[in-house]
Amino acid sequence: MLLGVYQDHTERHGLLFPPDPTSRNECSLGGAIACNASGARTFRYGPTRRWIESVDLVLPTGELLRGVTRDTPVPWPVPAWTEPAVKTAAGYFPATNLLDLVIGSEGTLGVVTRARTRLIPLPAHVLGLFAFFPTRSDMLAFVADARALPADAGPRCVEYFDRHALDLIRGRVPEVPEADSALFLEIEHADQEPPLEDWVERLAVRNALLDATIVATDDTARGRLHAVRHALPASVNEILSRTGFPKVGTDFAVPHEALATMMDAYEQPDFRTVCFGHIGDSHLHLNFLPTGAEELAEARRRYMALAERAVALGGTVSAEHGIGRVKKAHLILMAPPAVLQGWRALKRAADPANILGRGVLFDA
Ligand SMILES: Cc1cc2nc3c(=O)[nH]c(=O)nc-3n(C[C@H](O)[C@H](O)[C@H](O)COP(=O)(O)OP(=O)(O)OC[C@H]3O[C@@H](n4cnc5c(N)ncnc54)[C@H](O)[C@@H]3O)c2cc1C
Repeated sequence: MLLGVYQDHTERHGLLFPPDPTSRNECSLGGAIACNASGARTFRYGPTRRWIESVDLVLPTGELLRGVTRDTPVPWPVPAWTEPAVKTAAGYFPATNLLDLVIGSEGTLGVVTRARTRLIPLPAHVLGLFAFFPTRSDMLAFVADARALPADAGPRCVEYFDRHALDLIRGRVPEVPEADSALFLEIEHADQEPPLEDWVERLAVRNALLDATIVATDDTARGRLHAVRHALPASVNEILSRTGFPKVGTDFAVPHEALATMMDAYEQPDFRTVCFGHIGDSHLHLNFLPTGAEELAEARRRYMALAERAVALGGTVSAEHGIGRVKKAHLILMAPPAVLQGWRALKRAADPANILGRGVLFDA
């Protein structure tokens, strides 16, 4: 079942399944579980793992395991490994139970055929804000303020757009002002009245361009905000279709205290880039937009250097998109050889004929 179809169904019954990858209308619920998918709301609600209570799983040997839960032991040897203390979707989860191991295993250990999810009441109201900042330090100070709020008063997402992203959005939405950066926020509230004054105060303290702030207090206006936000991928895709070369996009997350350093590294004044993403989780997507084969090769070199930097700062090479077949070389930066060896042994024990996800995560 498509994740979006499932979510629309629960929402018609007043219930929310929080994970919201951008691909919700293309990916399956099983795929979201296999990849431990995240999205903007992960800032408040965490990734898919937190919302799965049990699965039915077909093992590579053909055996069907019904009702795999956090009480189900892992039948294979799992190497000891510590994930970086950031949002991450790189490598096997260091699980002590089969459910947590399978979530995020990218389809290498079994096929999820059914799942029991955790749902919460749909929030009564959601306030949307698109706020613009004159400097990066003001914007980062606001993000730190937002993180420090208790979960029930804070935003459910804090999404960032750099000045290049704003330039692209302005091409489609002219009221977007000149600014260093912008943040898109969603705030759930129980009262009919949105907590607008509190947020205007918080924005004012950090010098946001108050007159330019776009506010959405109902679903129609929020739809308009989403359209502003989605103007960006549309513009990026337009550029890519003109150049005919693929974008090279990062998916790194770093510890919060390393975010400013990583953002300095993301500055690429001599290359066309656009940076946006889940800044609440210190997880940004820097997209290189190459215009030729040489630039593509250069973008890939710079990507690798940035991956090394993210890992050196205590971060991850993939915070949500996973490793797949393309990022195996990046996983090696994070996972020591002994851990990779342990993962290979685990995979061999689970899938002796190597029939599932061949070449995903690592070469067997
Ligand atoms: C345009 C686009 C936007 C995206 N945005 C996000 C985002 O915002 N956040 C995010 O986290 N990810 C994102 N992704 C990555 C990806 O969509 C998600 O991780 C998604 O959950 C994968 O699900 P899928 O059904 O598309 O899986 P597929 O892409 O079909 O498969 C991905 C892997 O999961 C395995 N798999 C699929 N179904 C199952 C199953 N039932 N049981 C076991 N293994 C299975 C496959 O074997 C494969 O290894 C995006 C991808 C695209 C193309």
